[in-house]
Amino acid sequence: MHPPENIVNSAAASARDKLLFTPGPLTTSLSVKQAMLHDAGSWHFEFNALVASIRDRLLSIAQLSRDGGWEAILLQGSGTYGVEAVFQTCVPRAGKVAVLTNGAYGNRMAQMLTQAAIDHVVLHTAENKPVEPEALAALLVADKAITHVAMVHCETTTGILNPVQAVGQLARSHRKLFIVDAMSSFGAIPIDFKHCGIDFLISSPNKCLESVPGFCFILCQRQTLLACQDQSRSLSLDLVDQLKGFDRTGQFRYTPPTHAILGLDQALKEFEAEGGVAARGARYRANHDVLCAGLAELGLRPYLDAGVQSYIITAFPFPADSNFSFDNFYRSLSERGFIIYPGKLTQVNTFRIGTIGRIFPTDIQQLVYAIRATLQDILRTP
Ligand SMILES: *Cc1c(COP(=O)(O)O)cnc(C)c1O
Repeated sequence: MHPPENIVNSAAASARDKLLFTPGPLTTSLSVKQAMLHDAGSWHFEFNALVASIRDRLLSIAQLSRDGGWEAILLQGSGTYGVEAVFQTCVPRAGKVAVLTNGAYGNRMAQMLTQAAIDHVVLHTAENKPVEPEALAALLVADKAITHVAMVHCETTTGILNPVQAVGQLARSHRKLFIVDAMSSFGAIPIDFKHCGIDFLISSPNKCLESVPGFCFILCQRQTLLACQDQSRSLSLDLVDQLKGFDRTGQFRYTPPTHAILGLDQALKEFEAEGGVAARGARYRANHDVLCAGLAELGLRPYLDAGVQSYIITAFPFPADSNFSFDNFYRSLSERGFIIYPGKLTQVNTFRIGTIGRIFPTDIQQLVYAIRATLQDILRTP
């Protein structure tokens, strides 16, 4: 099954795409792109076997298994759809969610709950401080109506790492269900489900697994999810029904993202070949270290303290120079072949550099050279 020559050539051309220093979609390998040069029938047994295999392999990344009672539910849509699906499906009408937030993705959780008219309370922390288990402890004592606790593991707004284990153990000791958005950490930062007491974890293939967008996945205990039967406020986001669809036919309920499934199959092979979570995390850490060392020489330092900063994405305050404009900076880097990411902080102007995706320390070094040259151009300082 070799694709025609001209198609291979155009895929090879895309290997020269500008490098994405973004938190997803991100730079993927040529082989992941090539894996998608096929049309797969959503009814076909080979495709359904691939879906089943991907579900098992996602569980094994988290050191979970179907034999242990766990399921990986795939759902069409970007990561946000997965987070919303968990709330829509798993919080009963009389439920109440405590959301811990220190950034845009935690805030988005609160927005989803407001929109769905699900009762909730939000515990805010400053954007440069991890969320606070102590605040949750006090809340759980004071408010007995709370049934679920939700948080973001790595808040991509800044790259801050939140204390998922401390919060999870608290939720568990108060018998609350624990929902974790691990979108930007799953696959590169180890997550111990048992010690963290996670009931629902949401992530997506276009972050640390280095595949393309198109669907997201939820890891949970089968029984915990089945207990949510008939609760969903949404048809397409009903995770119980989605699981039952996989049970019955091995298929997605509605049109599956076939090419994105082929892409993730290849991306998981490359993930395993690289050495799994430990190896991927080590490469991203090396990327992050080269980035911070290189930009420090240019006088650019991360917004966060090193102790709370992850190696996934890093926010840098703008240089203190009135000639600096993010638009010029961005365009100039783009002309040199590097795509960075705008900031998302409410208080400080920052740009962000993602260190995940099919990029290596040598690529980061090239980016640092490009940033140096760009700043010399646009700041016109020696
Ligand atoms: C990327 C991301 C999401 C999902 O964003 P989408 O644009 O819907 O894919 C959610 N939470 C975090 C922490 C993320 O990094």
